[in-house]
Amino acid sequence: MTMLATPERTRDDHGRTIQLSHLLADGHRCDGECDFHPIACSNDEGIALPAGTRDVPVALDEPGQQWCGACLVIAAQRDWQHTGRIRCADCGALVRTDNVASLPAHRCVERQPAER
Ligand SMILES: [Zn+2]
Ligand SMILES: [Zn+2]
Ligand SMILES: [Zn+2]
Repeated sequence: MTMLATPERTRDDHGRTIQLSHLLADGHRCDGECDFHPIACSNDEGIALPAGTRDVPVALDEPGQQWCGACLVIAAQRDWQHTGRIRCADCGALVRTDNVASLPAHRCVERQPAER
């Protein structure tokens, strides 16, 4: 799964430059020439002079690239509002649930990849 994200250059805890991906705020139509991108995790902050948007995989494993944690949570909740399902962070399964705070039992442990 990928999500439309706008990148922010920032530094991680070790002072290394990383690219942090924020989810675009709801309702923003990107025409590729915006001078500002509202982001989902903040009501009043955003990215000035953004470097455009791109589809970023939720499971991001490129070096130097990270998802904004707050934006990921918002994305999961949006998803849940549409589908009634939320992805378990432990086993990756989509689980039907009626609240986002806790997941019902879903054989989580058995689904995790067996250790060799
Ligand atoms: Zn964010
Ligand atoms: Zn834009
Ligand atoms: Zn699970």
